[in-house]
Amino acid sequence: MDNHILEVSNLHVSFKTRNGEVPAVRGVNFSLKKGETLAIVGESGSGKSVTAKSIMQLLPKQNTIIPEGEIRYEGKDLLKFSKKEIQSIRGSDISMVFQDPMTSLNPTMKIGKQIMEGLSRHMNLTKKQARERAKEMLELVGIPNAEARLDAYPHQFSGGMRQRVVIAIALACNPKVLIADEPTTALDVTIQAQILRLMRGLQEKMDTAIILITHDLGVVANMADRVAVMYAGEVVEQGTLDEIFYRPQHPYTLGLLRSMPNLDAPRTEPLIPIPGSPPDPATLGTGCPFAARCPYTMKVCHDHNPDYTAVSGTQAVRCWLQDERTPDEHVPEVIRKGRQTSEIAADQAAIDAAGGVPV
Ligand code: SF4
Repeated sequence: MDNHILEVSNLHVSFKTRNGEVPAVRGVNFSLKKGETLAIVGESGSGKSVTAKSIMQLLPKQNTIIPEGEIRYEGKDLLKFSKKEIQSIRGSDISMVFQDPMTSLNPTMKIGKQIMEGLSRHMNLTKKQARERAKEMLELVGIPNAEARLDAYPHQFSGGMRQRVVIAIALACNPKVLIADEPTTALDVTIQAQILRLMRGLQEKMDTAIILITHDLGVVANMADRVAVMYAGEVVEQGTLDEIFYRPQHPYTLGLLRSMPNLDAPRTEPLIPIPGSPPDPATLGTGCPFAARCPYTMKVCHDHNPDYTAVSGTQAVRCWLQDERTPDEHVPEVIRKGRQTSEIAADQAAIDAAGGVPV
């Protein structure tokens, strides 16, 4: 039986600009099972947040175009929902936590009232029941003296405590899916670890599925079951946490692993930044969008964007290196054998030497 709670298929999102339509998300596919965490990673501008906001239909209607695709929640396509239908699932079935808690909280309203708003709207509770539930939620996210804190305003909380409040609001109605967009990026490292622990604990208690949008591979290592890597609006590779960290197949995934200093384990190799910068989405050609930065670019890469190749039952990659149709003589000598890059093997050895992916 299909136990996917959310399935995104062939999603395309473009923005209307003065220079015409600019694609931001190009044919994205992924799915989410009950209770699991899918991390979506990539550099800024890769389409992670646009993808997340499309699910909740939070993109500005007047300049957003979704020409193709489906976002199926419990089998129903959210893109066909009316405004009213979307509002009824927003906050109750699917919730979102953003990077900056101050943008999610109303500075002029008491915290308790802000938690109670969603409860009254979605759960039909009386005022007394909603206040009781709001207090329980503050306790659940570890805010001391919860009863009294219900009557405090956002500015009376620290940054970490504010993000706990936002998580309390997001989870108050027991949503089945939580979309967390860089939820700890604005916080210092100690608070970040506390918030991540809190989210993991609540997820276990409530069996919530999480889509975690982040550029931080340390956060991914600590939270994710599966990982989707985005580049230039496409998911270029996805797989289980182990597959992405130990057996990355896309040169961009490899580049991310080698360039980010966020893994908790000590590294045995220097950090190597990915040369160049992401392409301008307005001028993307027909080839692989990573071709200008990729150390293995072949002629075919400039001409045609690759399709997905399944590497295992759970891992798929968009790269000509893994595509059987690429003639062996076109593949660079260094990776021809088994189509594994020597760098991938070296990176894997470094992770192994560090005692594996930190969890
Ligand atoms: Fe590099 Fe070609 Fe693979 Fe793109 S398709 S990542 S350019 S090898």
